[in-house]
Amino acid sequence: MKPRRVAIVGAGVIGLCAALYCRRRGFDVTVVDRRAAIRTGCSFGNAGMIVPSHFIPLAAPGMVKLGLKWMWNPRSPFYIKPRLSWDLLAWGVQFWKSANRSHVERSAPVLRDLHLLSRSLYEQLAAEPGADFGFTPRGLLMLCKTSHGLEEESHAAIKANELGIPAEVLDAAGVGRLEPHTQTDVAGGVFYPRDCHLSPSALMAHLEKTLAADGVELCWESQVERFNVINGRLVSLQLTKSEGGDSTSRADGVSIEFDELVVAGGIGSTAIGRDLGLRLPMQAGKGYSLTLDRPRQSPTACAILTEARVAVTPMGGRLRFGGTMEMAGIDERINASRVAGIVSAIPRYYPAFQEADFAGLPAWHGLRPCPPDGMPYLGRSRRHANVIVATGHAMMGISLAPATGQLVAALASGDTSPIDLATMRPDRFD
Ligand SMILES: Cc1cc2nc3c(=O)[nH]c(=O)nc-3n(C[C@H](O)[C@H](O)[C@H](O)COP(=O)(O)OP(=O)(O)OC[C@H]3O[C@@H](n4cnc5c(N)ncnc54)[C@H](O)[C@@H]3O)c2cc1C
Repeated sequence: MKPRRVAIVGAGVIGLCAALYCRRRGFDVTVVDRRAAIRTGCSFGNAGMIVPSHFIPLAAPGMVKLGLKWMWNPRSPFYIKPRLSWDLLAWGVQFWKSANRSHVERSAPVLRDLHLLSRSLYEQLAAEPGADFGFTPRGLLMLCKTSHGLEEESHAAIKANELGIPAEVLDAAGVGRLEPHTQTDVAGGVFYPRDCHLSPSALMAHLEKTLAADGVELCWESQVERFNVINGRLVSLQLTKSEGGDSTSRADGVSIEFDELVVAGGIGSTAIGRDLGLRLPMQAGKGYSLTLDRPRQSPTACAILTEARVAVTPMGGRLRFGGTMEMAGIDERINASRVAGIVSAIPRYYPAFQEADFAGLPAWHGLRPCPPDGMPYLGRSRRHANVIVATGHAMMGISLAPATGQLVAALASGDTSPIDLATMRPDRFD
């Protein structure tokens, strides 16, 4: 019997992990992406954290108030560019409706299970021959500058322990014992020993290499022009060369037939969904990162500077700082004030660093795909029997990618998902 064919739109970390596990289940897999083979999208320059500690969705009690407070400060970790946009307004209303306790109670165990599944899949991937993407199961330290911040994080730690995720509250001396070679100026922190980190660009390179060796076809500079339907069933997609694409791109006019279609286009999934008659509301949450090649000091575990919402990740001798959630539409420009906000926070927590250390460093940026309720879109659409949606991972795409990929492969195979997908239904905003 001929193997069944899966076409995946989007070669970010979600699309590549879906491809990996579909291929391992014996599917013929083709991945298409509008970007070139050398890429810089959201899955590359991020902070690379795998975070079972992040079981609370972005839409949670208190977030609306905090967001409104931060909005007026150009250096704050969160910003919505005021603009007349029906989509933005609808997104905001839905966020506000979702930011309640019962949504968090329903979502937290699902996120926990997804993160923990991913963690164990990363352990397996990292043990495979040739895998060298810096997987480091060393934990995550939530550093709190203020006693108020520490108190708030201690509540989260209690909740984490209740959900079976170990978390230890530390005072300043405890933080010092955990990271003796990094000077900190903090009230304390919470240590999550099960969290991990990796180098995202090395992970992406490893996935691409593994997929190519396993016979997965990767089509770059290939934009989906249209989807073709026969007898009410989606059967193929027609490609066109993306704007600025190489003249050797084989995309033009090529048609890819499939039995199953996976939508994994990150922030581009809203537009792909529109072509398929699916409503996948999302806002692009732009974030930035800066990487020091020779940091003055380096922690061994990754960390979050909690009040400033800055992520800190050691990556093979280098040290990456990432942060900010700027909602300004699909806008690839760098906002210098937001980058300055990240840089100014660092010496407050790590006094050995100076803002001047970052002078002239190029800022990387990525657009996180953010649904209004903070939960991914994962599952089959009701509109098309053979479409699986896998997107909307917002700040957790690296952390949730292998679990998402494995669940996509299970659905494509006709298996029931071992994790309840109800909170992630792709048609929940229809
Ligand atoms: C500063 C920063 C730090 C972060 N840190 C972390 C972290 O520590 N841990 C974590 O888990 N997550 C983190 N994230 C979030 C993470 O990077 C994202 O959730 C993740 O990369 C999203 O992956 P994706 O595959 O869904 O989307 P993408 O990586 O954006 O990939 C989607 C792909 O689809 C393609 N595409 C879209 N539309 C089309 C189309 N019509 N035709 C063809 N191709 C198309 C795009 O070209 C793109 O390559 C961070 C993000 C930022 C910005």
